[in-house]
Amino acid sequence: DSTLSDLKDKIKSYPDFPKEGIIFRDIFSILRDPACLKSVIDLMVAKIEKLKWNDVDVIVGLESRGFILAPLLAVKLNAGFVPIRKKGRLPGVCKEIAYTLEYRSDVLEIQEDSINQGQRVLVIDDLIATGGSLGATCKLLKGLDAKVVGCLVLLELDQLEGSKNVDAPVESLITF
Ligand code: IMP
Repeated sequence: DSTLSDLKDKIKSYPDFPKEGIIFRDIFSILRDPACLKSVIDLMVAKIEKLKWNDVDVIVGLESRGFILAPLLAVKLNAGFVPIRKKGRLPGVCKEIAYTLEYRSDVLEIQEDSINQGQRVLVIDDLIATGGSLGATCKLLKGLDAKVVGCLVLLELDQLEGSKNVDAPVESLITF
């Protein structure tokens, strides 16, 4: 099995993508390797269990790279999967929240009937930078009266201290 430092070494970094001054960390360079993909999920599950975050009803994944990790973890934890998407992509009645992130501003949406009051939720994304996306997500979930147990990401850019902008505990597998 791959260790955390093997995984970190596999992450490719692209300077000036998607715009000048941003170093883009690409998780697809890990996921394309079968052993690494398995290790990512196994290590995330182990971390969730260690944190005692495994007793959840729903795993929420953020568009778009959160959609890759969240359902794989939901299957392992016997939880459901609920997406949070950019505005205008989900049918039915949605709740929305405007937010600003590292290199753009946007509006996120969740289907209003996707989570019941009091349900326990774990939030998954690929990466935390400024914490804008996860911060907005937690506000949206609290607006539905969900109980956000925590947020877990594969990568954390720790210099940005993004977790300060999130009103829930944030954990990561790998920090940069
Ligand atoms: P934040 O809202 O500033 O924390 O940015 C995190 C969001 O932007 C996540 O949904 C990421 O997918 C995306 N993002 C920001 N920087 C990167 C990067 O270097 N690699 C991959 N995704 C990134």
